[in-house]
Amino acid sequence: MEQLAAWLTGSETIEFREGPVPQPGPGELLLSVGAAVTCGTDVKVYRRGGHPRMLEVPSPFGHEMAGTIIGLGEGIDGWREGERIVVSNSASCGSCDFCRRGDENLCADLLYLNGAFARYLLVPARFVDRGVYRIPDELDFSVAALGEPLACVLHGIGKLAPQPGEGGALFGAGPIGLLFTAVLSAGGVELVVADPNESRLELARKLGAADTLLVERGGSGADRARSLGPGPPGFDFSIDATGVSEGWHDALAAVRPGGRVSLFGGCAPGTAIQLDPHRLHYDELTVMGAYHHRPEDFRAALALLAEGSFDSGLLLSLERPLEELSQALDDMIARRAVKVVIRPQPGV
Ligand SMILES: [Zn+2]
Ligand SMILES: [Zn+2]
Repeated sequence: MEQLAAWLTGSETIEFREGPVPQPGPGELLLSVGAAVTCGTDVKVYRRGGHPRMLEVPSPFGHEMAGTIIGLGEGIDGWREGERIVVSNSASCGSCDFCRRGDENLCADLLYLNGAFARYLLVPARFVDRGVYRIPDELDFSVAALGEPLACVLHGIGKLAPQPGEGGALFGAGPIGLLFTAVLSAGGVELVVADPNESRLELARKLGAADTLLVERGGSGADRARSLGPGPPGFDFSIDATGVSEGWHDALAAVRPGGRVSLFGGCAPGTAIQLDPHRLHYDELTVMGAYHHRPEDFRAALALLAEGSFDSGLLLSLERPLEELSQALDDMIARRAVKVVIRPQPGV
């Protein structure tokens, strides 16, 4: 057994580091990574060479993973070797004002865990206490690893509170947009999904979108989306899942008076957008951000994946060995894959 771990060392620079398998210290678990899954955030972090909250280079890389416990540090109670688990990519402190309010995603001391793209991962003590979840035997590691992005999506949906029968517009059919599509459509929402990529729109339709719209990259899809949806004056709610300012503009432009707008996609630091104060005020728009997830979102996400209420396999386009991580990220950038499953163990 040898460790092999991918490190992000700069913009679009990945380095593989070998070494002995790490040994769990007090309160820590050692995970043998069964599957790690690439994510839109990974692509963003890979291109930008870091993330303002989650990752500063050089750093182990990857945050969606599931695997098997193969080592227990001193003082571990309640876990045993051989158990199949998902590890959350963040752990809250449990004691700050935000945590006490149940807003653990806003924790003043939220710790992040990177290093999913590796054969082995040490799970720090706080994560063992507040961020490890058992998974059912029938759930493949790659599907269980979707717990993280799905938890983010459920958090966003919880804030948006869409009702069955409402009409919504979604901008951006990447992995997050497609998870929104699956969950909202299953909940009886009529969703129009806009994206510049036809193969992603096809997936959106398979996941239940009421209609789809092929748009130009760079936004301005709001008017056309309205023509497919409820018509003027607009949608009951909208979601940006692009993380670029043009998508935010579209989401703001797509809703009716009284509409709700979830600006879900995180823009790069320093991004500025124009807002129409007249419209915000006189049309009584509710505009909300949504970031990350809380333990209750994570549990709900794993329960939903275990139910199999949507075909999560549609999101997992390809599998690649760990050594081909850069190619996997390129697959996503070139829209050849929605998400890529990395199987880090040799011979799997
Ligand atoms: Zn993710
Ligand atoms: Zn806290």
